[in-house]
Amino acid sequence: MKQGYDCLVIGAGFAGAVAARELAERGGKRVLVLERRNHIGGNAYDLLDEAGVLIHQYGPHIFHTNDKRVFDYLSRFTRWRDYQHRVVANVHGKEMPVPFNLTSLELAFGKEKAAELEKKLLDTYGAEKKVTILELRQNSGPELAALADYVYENVFLHYTMKQWDQSPEEIDPATTARVPVFLSRDDRYFQDQYQGMPQEGYTALFQAMLDHPNITVEVNTDARARLTLPPEGGAPLLDGEAFHGFVVYTGAVDELFDCVYGRLPYRTLEFRFETHPVTFWQSHGTVNYTVSEPWTRITEFKYLTGQELPGKTTIAKELSHAYTGAPGETPYYAVINPENNALFGKYQAMAQSYDNFYLLGRLAEYKYYNMDAIAARALALCDALIKTGQVL
Ligand code: FAD
Ligand code: UDP
Repeated sequence: MKQGYDCLVIGAGFAGAVAARELAERGGKRVLVLERRNHIGGNAYDLLDEAGVLIHQYGPHIFHTNDKRVFDYLSRFTRWRDYQHRVVANVHGKEMPVPFNLTSLELAFGKEKAAELEKKLLDTYGAEKKVTILELRQNSGPELAALADYVYENVFLHYTMKQWDQSPEEIDPATTARVPVFLSRDDRYFQDQYQGMPQEGYTALFQAMLDHPNITVEVNTDARARLTLPPEGGAPLLDGEAFHGFVVYTGAVDELFDCVYGRLPYRTLEFRFETHPVTFWQSHGTVNYTVSEPWTRITEFKYLTGQELPGKTTIAKELSHAYTGAPGETPYYAVINPENNALFGKYQAMAQSYDNFYLLGRLAEYKYYNMDAIAARALALCDALIKTGQVL
């Protein structure tokens, strides 16, 4: 091909990096990766701050998966630090495990009352079961209904209003189902088989993944300045010339078409980083503020990374806002509902009118995907591209 590349990958986050490596290594293709930020890693990017603390610039990222293929794949590029994330909710100054579990029950209701409620819960749902807050609220028995109200009010309602500006009933039920009530004393945030943090950080993982002779990465490059999508569909143009290789696009799909049908709604986040002259500032890696404060949660990175650094620590407070598309703002969460999905469908159809053009990733697919899901999707897409030369 005239441009010297067989594949174009737009974005160097999990979707783009896994796809680039697969196409380059297994597919034997020459891959150009364009990334508009000044670094690789997408939202999983980490770096040392001014105090020397390893922070996650775009919010705390904890790796967890049940997908052995994904875990084995990423393990080629990093060793792992064993880390099991634990989160507490700050409820009027009292800290209790989230997901709300049998320990939280005791902290909220006292031993005696908790024992009664525990028996009712276990009789109704079974031990070690996960019950979403919306399911629990459908329980008609008065005692469990009162418990459901307590959890709804003290764990879900205000946090969800802060995060989404909508109530738990209004948002996609799969969202609150990510953090179910857990009828267990297991106080970990995730129960996945494989959990941990990249030993040297995420950025090092991405450097290793993108370090391949068939891969060229250009940062500080917005693909929209290099890629043209002719209105009639067909072959995209790269630097003004028809490009007949695969194009994997991992950015927001509405932007690709100048938001002609209107903007896809997203939530953005504001991170307020603070460095404090203490070795640890809070009790857990993440504390959720479920009834008070304007922020949803505070994360203290040293818990996650295991970095040993006496006498200083950095925390990040997270505040959620509607994404407006203003310069410098990042879209983080798709606002999933039937109307927005339909709007996404229009952009998706436009993207599908281009040859060999694939939408991949949390932004491009307008979904609430974790890192492992994205890696799995990138592997699956490349399986299909490499095997058949195209995805059917
Ligand atoms: P991104 O990481 O967003 O990468 C897309 C890249 O494309 C970006 O670097 C962007 O700059 C680039 N790009 C976009 N448009 C263009 C363009 N026109 N030209 C060039 N480049 C472009 N998942 C977990 O598994 N565990 C967690 O603990 C976790 N925590 C999270 C916390 C927060 C606050 C958020 C928002 C997400 C979290 N996630 C977590 C999800 C995780 O961030 C995503 O699953 C993952 O980053 C998605 O990777 P991606 O490549 O699809 O997207
Ligand atoms: N949630 C909540 N209270 C909590 C934790 C989560 O209401 O203490 C709800 C909230 O709606 C949130 C969703 O559950 O957006 C998913 O939480 P998760 O921690 O998975 O969100 P993420 O880490 O992806 O921001």
